[in-house]
Amino acid sequence: MPTLNYSKQRQAILDHLQSRKDHPTAEMIYHTLRKSMPNLSAGTVYRNLGLLTELGQVKKLTGLDGVDHYDGDVSAHSHFICQCCGKVDDVFFDADALLNEKAAEHYDGSITSHHVYFYGTCKACLKNKKEK
Ligand code: ZN
Ligand code: MN
Repeated sequence: MPTLNYSKQRQAILDHLQSRKDHPTAEMIYHTLRKSMPNLSAGTVYRNLGLLTELGQVKKLTGLDGVDHYDGDVSAHSHFICQCCGKVDDVFFDADALLNEKAAEHYDGSITSHHVYFYGTCKACLKNKKEK
């Protein structure tokens, strides 16, 4: 297989991320892509994820569980992490809307961002618990 040039590698990383809904870590992305792109290095994956995040083409989820996760869906939505199995799910509800403005009403400075994550037990884990 020929070595892909830099922009093609970046596109492959973006395409792959947009094809999965499980909010993988850089490590998970690297391990999956390496199977079809043997010349890919972990550094390239990390560097391109950083670049794609800066370009606003992917979303980096920081502070969920100690390791950064990535989302190929940059539309406004929230995230849920299961405290039982660790899976990261989408919650199609924009918890961020207006929150900066609301907080700014109570703070004499400029507020530009915040993190809201939901925690609990996912549907599969709930079902599992019931069956035990
Ligand atoms: Zn779960
Ligand atoms: Mn998401």
